Amino acid sequence: MGKKNIDWANIGFGYMKTDNRYVSNFKNGAWDNGVITTDDKVVLSECAGVLQYSQSCFEGLKAYETKEGKIVTFRPDLNAQRMVDSAKRLEMPPFPQERFIDAVDQVVKANADWVPPYGSGATLYIRPVMFGSNEVIGVKPADEYQFRMFCTPVGPYFKGGAKPIVVKISDFDRAAPHGTGNIKAGLNYAMSLHAIVTAHAEGFAENVYLDPATRTTIEETGGANIIFVDADGNLVVPKSASDSILPSITRRSIVQVAKDYLKLNVTERTVRLDEVHNFKEMGLCGTAAVISPVGKINDHGKEICFESGMEEMGPTIRKLYETLTGIQMGRLEAPAGWIHEIRLN
Ligand SMILES: *Cc1c(COP(=O)(O)O)cnc(C)c1O
Repeated sequence: MGKKNIDWANIGFGYMKTDNRYVSNFKNGAWDNGVITTDDKVVLSECAGVLQYSQSCFEGLKAYETKEGKIVTFRPDLNAQRMVDSAKRLEMPPFPQERFIDAVDQVVKANADWVPPYGSGATLYIRPVMFGSNEVIGVKPADEYQFRMFCTPVGPYFKGGAKPIVVKISDFDRAAPHGTGNIKAGLNYAMSLHAIVTAHAEGFAENVYLDPATRTTIEETGGANIIFVDADGNLVVPKSASDSILPSITRRSIVQVAKDYLKLNVTERTVRLDEVHNFKEMGLCGTAAVISPVGKINDHGKEICFESGMEEMGPTIRKLYETLTGIQMGRLEAPAGWIHEIRLN
């Protein structure tokens, strides 16, 4: 065996079927032991809960090959915890956190040849997903569930990688006030598909959603949280007035990196749309996006342009990016507990 013969440097953010995945089923009130399987197909009743009432949630994390050739994941305990939170909100049985970490270990180990080499620019994206699998016709939670974890090698989420993107202020909402915006529910993405297709057709990379209650403050984009750098070079992180921002692990890590590694002041507060022009830099952050710089926001035809421009990342976002990815890829010392090594033998 050995690494798969893939042009790692040129893959996009897409699905490639790998050799193995992990599956555990919940039935009669308990999760079974779980197995690694080569079977990528799911066979369900036409009346399965997930197909009728969208009872599903998911996660996303990455495995990296470090400079020393180790394979690591970044803070998988937080993904495990968030999937428990998502499951509870959707009346699904939580998948135990220690079993989640064990599944990550098993899936990455069973697909070790698919982990992109250090320095290639690609990573192994891991997708845990859980859904109601038995028949449900009256509106209620399913009694049976499947937890599945598969992986796929990926390149940059946004075309062009570190080039600044242009985003638009959306007239749609991605979540309701005090709804499900703060959990990783598949239904939030169903909500956002029309908005993203529309934005792409208009030439924008992503939508910026405003708070769904007043539509005056900045929340996040379809799949990434937002960070700003103010005129003094400090970090400002939007907070939701209606608890509808997804608690990004990348964003929480950036906040800590900004404080402890870069000695920046960090303010987490509600950010009004009408003050955004005062910021110098803007970035989108998430496991998939890492940190993508934003050059411009289009607000109904009016452009809000950041000083960092359309050519490259601004200086503070660049430092955050380099520090965060340095920690993830083992070039910089990580805070305790952030790096989880996958032992291959
Ligand atoms: C997954 C997700 C993010 C990013 O979260 P990470 O934990 O950093 O990957 C941001 N916003 C939304 C809506 C998401 O679903």
